[in-house]
Amino acid sequence: MTLQTLSAAQRTFFEQAASRYQADLSADTAAQDYLRTRGLLPAVATFRLGVVRNPLVGHEQYAGRLAIPYLTPAGVVNLRFRCIERHDCDGHPKYLSQPDAGTNLFNVLDLKKDSPHIVVTEGELDAMSWSLAGVPAVGSPGVDAWQKHWRRCLEDHEVVYGAGDGDKAGTKFNSFLAREVKARALRLPLGEDSNSLFVKGGADALRSLIE
Ligand SMILES: [Zn+2]
Repeated sequence: MTLQTLSAAQRTFFEQAASRYQADLSADTAAQDYLRTRGLLPAVATFRLGVVRNPLVGHEQYAGRLAIPYLTPAGVVNLRFRCIERHDCDGHPKYLSQPDAGTNLFNVLDLKKDSPHIVVTEGELDAMSWSLAGVPAVGSPGVDAWQKHWRRCLEDHEVVYGAGDGDKAGTKFNSFLAREVKARALRLPLGEDSNSLFVKGGADALRSLIE
């Protein structure tokens, strides 16, 4: 089991980064437009979303990307950076992680919400979509990023739902979660993910999958 212990300096750095990129976003129409098309503009404050326009030293390679902080009761413990250009990300990764920052479960604040069930998604945007729809959700930063010890985070919930995308990788992710955390697989329509469903049909489109 790996428990990540951040130094005080790292914590301060993550907090500074989240605050700065949040401030960058407040004046950035391109990033706001991106979040609007994803239905995630209402998530900006809750999730402290940002955009990297004035990178901190060491963050230059994330310039222009959406900054997604990993919020916990103890503050910001990680950040990931998503490309928000209107293209297919040929030749560069859609997401970048900091090489020295470890792998965290996204949106652990939702673990404490009063709910018998919780949804597990493949990524941050999908988890935010469920959470905005009023259903607690956490996200693995990618299908292959799951860490064994995250299982224990989900033990208090009566029902865990796996919300893998409506494709082969998503089906595999749901099967994995079924073995790993006894998750019930939600059937997303072919070609859709939680966020695209949320954009098309709002909260009801997601909630109807579990009700
Ligand atoms: Zn790209």
